[in-house]
Amino acid sequence: MWQVIGQQKAVMLMDRSVKTGQFAHAFLFTGPPHTGKMTLARNLAQALNCGSDNRPCNECSSCRRVAAGKHPDVQVLQLNLEDRKKVITIEQVENMQSNASLPPYEGKYKVFIFEDADKLSHDAANRLLKTLEEPMPQVVIILVTSRESDLLPTVISRCQRIEMPPLPIAVVEEILADKYGAPPEDAALLSRLSRGRLGWAISALQDRSLLETRQSRIGDLLEMRSASITKRLSYASDLASRFGKSREEVDDIMELWLRWWNDLLLVSAGNADRIVNLDHESELAEQAQNLTIPQLTRALRDLQEAGRQLEQNVNPRLVLEVLMLSMP
Ligand SMILES: [Zn+2]
Repeated sequence: MWQVIGQQKAVMLMDRSVKTGQFAHAFLFTGPPHTGKMTLARNLAQALNCGSDNRPCNECSSCRRVAAGKHPDVQVLQLNLEDRKKVITIEQVENMQSNASLPPYEGKYKVFIFEDADKLSHDAANRLLKTLEEPMPQVVIILVTSRESDLLPTVISRCQRIEMPPLPIAVVEEILADKYGAPPEDAALLSRLSRGRLGWAISALQDRSLLETRQSRIGDLLEMRSASITKRLSYASDLASRFGKSREEVDDIMELWLRWWNDLLLVSAGNADRIVNLDHESELAEQAQNLTIPQLTRALRDLQEAGRQLEQNVNPRLVLEVLMLSMP
């Protein structure tokens, strides 16, 4: 059974490929984080090596070992977390290639899954190209990414590209309530906060620390609105140093701000029923009273511009300082 929920198009494609035996030697699973890409990659590795009629069965010894990360023919290549450069290295790709040149130990296919394929170093990506250009029998490579634009176009063009987009909010809400027993108010809030990324919504339902982190970030945002210039600058410098360690964390914080300002704009324009931060409705209403629509549109524009500049590697401290000072 394919365990990815809600990505019918991608799942049907994979199912048909496995059933007909006609599939690419390399895939690119692309889409925002938490949309089921790694689950689909593991399921595909299971299906390619499963002995049952209904592949993947999730129950045979082979399927279970793939799920547990213990199948000798299925390897997930990840960032080496101790490596301060935070890239998938050329050595990792070379090791993969020498492993791929041997026949499968026990299964039908060797499957190599690159989690965060966008983190391949330039050299590693060029080395990988060789394998993508000269496919080996019984070897399937799956590149998984949520930042496709960071991949070499030559790598992308040699893979079958499978898009895993966010799901409609209403679908996430329904799945949370029906399949995961979420109370209606949790299902409503988490589906909106998830931006359609079901995996995130499920994690947040099961692990309240994600909502606690969000709450503390909202606290920071509210505090900064009334903070002095010195305090705002010191917060900007703190964010900039966090950006150096985890880009994703700062992206998440800015996304939260974007949605907060957007909610304020919705409230101001009389569309409070469309807000995302359902649990902060009264605070939003109160704040919206003291802000004009031009102020809010400008704040949103400044945030988007800051996001673009960070993406283009403009000095993060400078970008974040300007942003903090311009906040109404
Ligand atoms: Zn199986």
